[in-house]
Amino acid sequence: MALKKAGKHKGKCGYPTFKHKHKGRGSFRLDCPIHVFDGAVQLPKIGRVKLKEQGYIPTWGVKVLSATISEKAGRWFVSVQVEEDHPEPQLATGGPLGVDLGIKTLATLSNGTTLVNPKALRSRLKALKRATRLHSRCKKGSNNRKKAQRRLARLHMKIANIRKDTLHKATAQIVAKTKPAAERPAVIVLEDLHVAGMLKNRKLARAIADVGLYEFKRQLCYKATSAGMQVKEASRWYPSSKTCSGCGWYHADLTLADRVFRCQQCGIVIDRDENAALNLAALA
Ligand SMILES: [Zn+2]
Repeated sequence: MALKKAGKHKGKCGYPTFKHKHKGRGSFRLDCPIHVFDGAVQLPKIGRVKLKEQGYIPTWGVKVLSATISEKAGRWFVSVQVEEDHPEPQLATGGPLGVDLGIKTLATLSNGTTLVNPKALRSRLKALKRATRLHSRCKKGSNNRKKAQRRLARLHMKIANIRKDTLHKATAQIVAKTKPAAERPAVIVLEDLHVAGMLKNRKLARAIADVGLYEFKRQLCYKATSAGMQVKEASRWYPSSKTCSGCGWYHADLTLADRVFRCQQCGIVIDRDENAALNLAALA
């Protein structure tokens, strides 16, 4: 079989593609002993480079194997690979926790906590549209276009960073690694959301993509595992929003616009998302 062109066939080898000076994210790895100081790293050939943010790279007690330098939107990053022992996580023993993901609020937990959705893209969409337009109207190859390109890239990174920051804080809060085992839920129940399908809804697609639901799930799964907790997924077809968390009555004609769940059997009045979160917790 002839060699395929790289990039077109996922997972298959093809001709190598070389890095381009002006395209994509540039990065390189230094496979040699790296010295880490308080607020600086010593890189071979380059020398001692000061770090803007301190305290993220462990300075003692670990063996630094290599460093990767990368650049994104005009900022340079260093990440180091270290060798260290991980103690076996203490198994959490708290009651189950249901997590209902959404757009209005990022997540509603069955213990009553709500996590705010910053709407990273939504809040900066106007600025992003303007920056994109200015970029596209500059003459190709001009210095002004390069300037506009850098401005646009910075804005894209800002939006991505807001989203990343929120998701990390939210998942860390749910997992609560530093709390004693009895206060952490042994099982976290999520909905198995059909994100790809929801993105086909043109009215909701932007809002759904802005949340970063898959990334939320990914982070929650790995953080929970490292903290001795289990993550379970409720079936995609389980009506967590339409079922009463008090008596199990099925509210057949609940719409997306109904923010409050009113049970016609036991009379309970509860926030829609909280009701769903309680139902998910009950599944565990
Ligand atoms: Zn009820």
